[in-house]
Order: sequence, then structure tokens, then C-alpha cells
Amino acid sequence: MTAMPPQDPFVAMVSAKVEVSLRLSDFQPRSMLVTAAHEVQRPKFPAIDYHNHLDAQEPANVLRIMDECGLERVVNITMRTGEAALQIIDKFHKAAPHRFSTYGWMDWSDLHSPDFFRRTVDRLEQIVEHGACGLKLWKDLGTTIRDKDGSLLRIDDERLAPLFDKAAELNVPIMFHIADPDAFFLPIDNQNERYEELAAHPEWSYYGAHFSKAELLAQRDRVFPRHPKTTFVGAHVAEHPEDLSYVSRLLDANPNLQVDIAARCAELGRQPYTAREFFLKHSDRILFGSDLIPEVSMYRLYFRFLETRDEYFEYPSHASRQGRWNIHGLFLPDEVLRSVYRENALRLLP
Ligand SMILES: [Zn+2]
Repeated sequence: MTAMPPQDPFVAMVSAKVEVSLRLSDFQPRSMLVTAAHEVQRPKFPAIDYHNHLDAQEPANVLRIMDECGLERVVNITMRTGEAALQIIDKFHKAAPHRFSTYGWMDWSDLHSPDFFRRTVDRLEQIVEHGACGLKLWKDLGTTIRDKDGSLLRIDDERLAPLFDKAAELNVPIMFHIADPDAFFLPIDNQNERYEELAAHPEWSYYGAHFSKAELLAQRDRVFPRHPKTTFVGAHVAEHPEDLSYVSRLLDANPNLQVDIAARCAELGRQPYTAREFFLKHSDRILFGSDLIPEVSMYRLYFRFLETRDEYFEYPSHASRQGRWNIHGLFLPDEVLRSVYRENALRLLP
């Protein structure tokens, strides 16, 4: 019998491996990093949250938070339609006409009734007359809204063209939230970087659908150049913050396109070098937006992200988080902050 050669202690150390059974939900590591941390109480310039949903909020409560955080205005994207949407506009207008604006929400409820596409144009006119500052089309377009023959209604369906032209005529933007993070199109498994988020919201997964994210974006991207006089807002960094080179090319190709950063701090802040270059290059095309329930601490994390060079801190998020990573601040220069916080939004507001 030959004796095993004694294992080298260094080789033994660096090759040691173990499989653990700690539940992922119980794993809550605390960072031991000691780096500079700056809480930003109020933004350096008055800020406009261009993307939020306030239908369920009391205006007085939101105003208190806005005052504490240095927010000049919040754009409420109502998720109601018809008469209920007009009531929402009135509620916030009555509370503080200069602190709130409202976006309308596309009403598909009577898609299968005659003259639907003409009616959407009339509805846009009506809601803008009532004070709305834009119209949002959500990801149900392209993924669940079905035409009379059962096929999915396409984002670039020509019958929607008069709606987009009417928006140009009324001088209000169309906001698109089309598709979702790349990880939502992948299996919910041990390689999915948004595993816990998707486990909390399995209905957000598109895995197994017969359409791809690339197809949805391609349909949307075809609309922008067809309507050069219409201003479009690509919500959530045009839904592709995972690839800012894509969004950058899209902005270069379409001068009528703006993007908001709502709910995408996590994506932007984990690629701080690329994200900072993106902000510097497109500073007049990026809108500050949160897309989260108004809270002082939430807004302050956004300010910290945009203004400081703090490293590796938590991103603002909904309860299930977006992924197990942290973000880095972009320390944007004053002129960029001024544009992103306020001036770009003011150009789009009546
Ligand atoms: Zn939203």
C-alpha cells in the first residue's frame, strides 16, 4: 500500500469548499466595509418625481413628505380610467395645483367595440382638456391585450398611430412601459438574479411566453421614428437598463425620446461607471422618477445615488427587493443634476 503524499497546507486551504443548507431567506449579511456615507436630506436642486402612482395616497400626506424631501412636484400616473381618472385629477389639483400633475392611463376595456381606436383619440383629448399631462401605455400592450381574432395586439399596430399623432397635436408625451427586466424572461431558478423578487411575484415572470423581450422592444422602437413630432418617455430607462449602450443608441436615433429612471436605481447603481457616462452624455434626456410609495427614506436613497460618491449601499426598492446586490453613487455634476431633477421634466409639463 502506497502512502498518500501529505497535502500541502496552502493547497488544502484554497481548495476547501462546502455546501451549506442556510435558507436563502435567512441569509442577511451585513457589509463590513468602512467607507464614507452621506445621507442627502434634500436634493441639491428642487426635484420633480416624474413617475409615481398616487391614486391610493392622501394628497396632504404626500405633500408633507415632499416638503420634507425638497420635492417640488410629483407626476401621478393614474391607473384609473374614465370618470374615475378625472376624479383623481381633481383630487390632486384641488390639494395643490402646482405640486401635482397627472398622467392618464390607456383604457382597453372596450377594445372589441366598434370605433375603439377613434374613441381612444377622443378620450386623450378629453383627459388632457381636464388637465392630464400625458398618457401612459403599459406592458399589457404586447403581452396580454388581444385583438378580436385572439392575436396579441402589437405595440406598433398602425391603428394606434392617430393616438400618437393626437398626443403631438396636444403637446403631451406618451409614456411606454413595455416589457420588463431581462431576468423576468428567464426561468425562476438558481441562476436567476431576481430569484427572490420573482418568487414573491411569480406572475411577473414571462418565462415560457411565445414572445421575447427583444421582440417587444423592437415593436416599441419602431413607433418612435414613425411619430417624430410626438414626445415619448421610455419608462424605467426604456426598459433596458441592463444594456445602457442599447438605450444610448436608441436616444441617439430618436430625438423625440426621453427616459425616466423610475425603479431602476438597482440596475444603474450596480454599473456606476457606465451609468455615469450615460447620464453625462444624455443629461437633457433623463427624468428623475421613483415609482415607489412616497417615503422620505426612499427619496433620500435616490438623492444619495445621484449626488454622492458613496459606495455599496442599499438601493430604494419595493419590499421583495430586485436582486442581491448594492449600488454606488454617481456624483453627478450640478448641471446634470439640475436637468435630471427638474428641467427636463419642466419641458414636458404644460
Ligand atoms: Zn410605474
